[in-house]
Amino acid sequence: MGDELLLRGVELHPRQDLVDCRIRDGVIAELGRRLRPGPDGLVAEGNGGALLPGLADHHVHLPAMAAHHASLDVSALSRDGLASSLAQAVAGQDGWVRVVGYDDVVHGDLDRTVLDVWNHMLPVRVQHRSGALWIVNSPGLERLGAASASCDGIERDGAGRPTGRLWRADAWLREALGGRPPSLRGVGARLAALGITHVSDATPDAGTGGMVARAVLRAELPQHVMVMAAVTGLPPHPRLSVGPLKLVVADHALPEIDDLAGRMRRAHADERPVAVHCVTRTALALTLAALDRAGALEGDRVEHCAIADPSAAGELAARRIRVVTQPTLIALRGDDYWERADTRDRPDLWRYAGLLRAGVRVAASSDAPYGNPDPWACLRAASERLTPSGRVLGAEERVPVEVALRGMLSPLDDPGGPARRVAVGRPADLVLLDRPLREALRAPDAGHVRATFIEGRIVHGADRLR
Ligand SMILES: [Zn+2]
Repeated sequence: MGDELLLRGVELHPRQDLVDCRIRDGVIAELGRRLRPGPDGLVAEGNGGALLPGLADHHVHLPAMAAHHASLDVSALSRDGLASSLAQAVAGQDGWVRVVGYDDVVHGDLDRTVLDVWNHMLPVRVQHRSGALWIVNSPGLERLGAASASCDGIERDGAGRPTGRLWRADAWLREALGGRPPSLRGVGARLAALGITHVSDATPDAGTGGMVARAVLRAELPQHVMVMAAVTGLPPHPRLSVGPLKLVVADHALPEIDDLAGRMRRAHADERPVAVHCVTRTALALTLAALDRAGALEGDRVEHCAIADPSAAGELAARRIRVVTQPTLIALRGDDYWERADTRDRPDLWRYAGLLRAGVRVAASSDAPYGNPDPWACLRAASERLTPSGRVLGAEERVPVEVALRGMLSPLDDPGGPARRVAVGRPADLVLLDRPLREALRAPDAGHVRATFIEGRIVHGADRLR
């Protein structure tokens, strides 16, 4: 990291000056006009492109992103299409057919019997698009030893036989599957190419949290990573931190309020705020009530907040609870949300501007692989809120791209808080665009990312800087 890098003629914000930026030992060492190159450092012409703090994705699932690549994606298929692609599927490296993008409304209900009709030769596991449910066929259940396993998520029929439906059983599933976890190297590179230097992994279980932490320690992931799983005793590392504890208020099985408040209290006693998954009106009301019992801690947040009416928004603001939302889900599934929502919930779907107006700190994120990992697509989605059919979902909830971008520049431990800055002495976690910011934000596109730097290292675009 002793290497020096001089970026010439980059546009700095908010003043829009053209300056040179010297990066040394992982930090921004100097900003000014006509800086002299060091004896053997790299000099690159910025050509007036914007130099921004690197982008943060405040809610992703890194191991699931890696697994997504090796899966059969059925999100664009009908039930018949799902059936025939399953019948013809070939097994992956682990011997399984892994399917993602299943939607109960589009594809109908699934259980082991249905899957067996389509494929009873290979072990098959099908993930619901929400990530909350897996359906496994009979050969798969046998291979997992599900019949005799003790895991609450394994749904059973009256006779105690597994139905094939596994609810939020990822930790058990991963253990039962055995094998080596997928490398996160490809995911790290892909995020770097999008200009992302900071990520929060929102997977709740400790096994995944440990996996993500090891990927940082082994330098598979170049990003700064905040883990939200129930992990303890992670080795210290400058790019690794432990964030709020992810709690899931699942819509199919709401927890008891005392139980939820107890988990919040225990997290707070460990000095960890909580990040509560809430996608229904009831889940949000329960979460707010449980937080009142537990007492709030600075840094508490609500993930998704898919339905929030003005009074809930006011309560979030009054309690200083942050919201981490996912605008690209509207671009992917906005019509479904609209059609499936209760009429009274429709005005309150995936609010963003309304939460900001109420005084809530909000930051956008991807929820990849369940949402689009591209932050530039997220900026478009936040400002347009266009559904796949071209409907605008909640016109008054649109947020200017500059505002959504500011959320992506906020620190991992303060989503929606003040943006990180490009300033002398700050870490050189940066993204260099190929054009001025104003121009780039007119039509946000990942193609405008020219290079990405983390701790002064070029993690994307080295070839474009020479
Ligand atoms: Zn998530």
